[in-house]
Amino acid sequence: MTTLTNYIDGRMTAPAAGGYLDKIDPATGRVVARVPDSDGTDVARAVAAANAAFPAWAATPAAERSRVLLAIADGIDRRLDALARAESIDTGKPVTLARTLDIPRAAANFRFFATAILHTETETHATDHTALNYTLRRPRGVAGLISPWNLPLYLLSWKIAPALATGNTAVAKPSELTPTTATLLGEICQEAGLPPGVLNLIHGLGARAGMAIVEHPDVRSISFTGGTATGAVIARTAAPLFKKLTLELGGKNPTIVFADADLDRQLPSIVRSAFANQGEICLCGSRILVEAPLFDTFVERFVAAVSRLTVGDPLDPATEFGALVSAGHRDKVASYLDLARAEGGTIRCGGDRPTDLPARCADGYFLSPTVITGLPMACRTNQEEIFGPVVTVTPFRDEAEAVALANDSRYGLAASIWTEQLGRAHRVAEAVQCGTIWVNCWLLRDLRVPFGGMRQSGVGREGGDEAIRFFTEPKNVCLKL
Ligand code: NDP
Repeated sequence: MTTLTNYIDGRMTAPAAGGYLDKIDPATGRVVARVPDSDGTDVARAVAAANAAFPAWAATPAAERSRVLLAIADGIDRRLDALARAESIDTGKPVTLARTLDIPRAAANFRFFATAILHTETETHATDHTALNYTLRRPRGVAGLISPWNLPLYLLSWKIAPALATGNTAVAKPSELTPTTATLLGEICQEAGLPPGVLNLIHGLGARAGMAIVEHPDVRSISFTGGTATGAVIARTAAPLFKKLTLELGGKNPTIVFADADLDRQLPSIVRSAFANQGEICLCGSRILVEAPLFDTFVERFVAAVSRLTVGDPLDPATEFGALVSAGHRDKVASYLDLARAEGGTIRCGGDRPTDLPARCADGYFLSPTVITGLPMACRTNQEEIFGPVVTVTPFRDEAEAVALANDSRYGLAASIWTEQLGRAHRVAEAVQCGTIWVNCWLLRDLRVPFGGMRQSGVGREGGDEAIRFFTEPKNVCLKL
């Protein structure tokens, strides 16, 4: 069994109090590693190391910071197989998905911000003929970066890369359910020559290690991705300390399918948008809205396509749909199936444990992809984030009703629209209250665009210039001419 370590001041470090948590492989239900159960002492050491490293790293020329971050990206590429396997064992996701999506994207995050900082500009404002203003953007100091279990290295690197590229140092905490790729990232940073203390990785529980990061007075910026309830706790804690905060939170995303959608071409993408990563992606569409004339045909074809997904051992390269992340999460998702039945829904496929799993996975946390019809939009199944392989399909009469149903949610993260009419796509995209709208595609990501949610899906934006602005402090200099 592996014993994981924290990564503090450039060294692999055991937790100060010596406590560990069990790390379980969700595909088998077996303990596969021990994870540091870090506390405030570990966080204080990490913040002290980050603070000490800050002045030199902030003063390092952008070209040199870029070189080191590119070396980290190369290190991720070199370890693609090991990282993909670790991500699959930690999360239950198909190893093929980790190999083609999670790990390449982590490398891309480092490359993107390593090169972005070589091409930044800053504003100048000429005040008539009397003064010239220019804006300096300087790193803010130690950033606290907290990320969830569903896309572990992908989301952690999405925060680490812009924080470090802009000259900040960081203390990062992955979910204790999925710690392994972060530990490997520490090794990659050592090999790439990242100066000690620039990045520190702390494992442990959110309420203990995570909270200690949020509360630490020397952590000046907090970038958090996770659940809306946790985001509220973090906002409450950070606000009186005047920390800069970005919150990427939950979603209950609408997938709007008009009768003219090209189903022959788009159905595989719509299935993917619902069930990629077992539906455990904040961007997955979980409320599928279908224009009435297409409804019966859509349900029939969608259910047939979902039933054909290869559910199985996440480590089998042919698997398309693996295990849920934990027993607790599987039970939570399963409880929504009972709720959906009680609310009058009809389960059209799934709703149970897959039957033909290999013996190795007999005790794993599996749940079949599930499609439900017959539920009103106001019911809890349609209003609460399930964050698993459960979608509802609901008919709508016309464009206005589609928009009303899509917006009937406390969340506002992402939506997808499927239609061949360009004008309608524009109109609906404008009217739907979400931070990201995809038209005839899903999860097509350009790292330059603003990414984030409205309403209870979050505050602030990540990506491209938004991230560079978040991790820097603007200072205006006014020069009288
Ligand atoms: P949580 O909010 O439970 O946890 C997210 C992270 O925060 C984990 O590292 C967790 O640690 C930590 N944490 C928990 N409590 C605290 C606290 N009081 N102080 C500081 N840190 C804390 O979310 P999940 O891990 O369950 O992730 C699923 C959620 O994330 C879903 O709601 C999903 O929609 C959302 N999400 C949003 C995305 C977006 O971009 N908007 C992207 C991906 C997911 P620990 O695991 O140890 O508890």
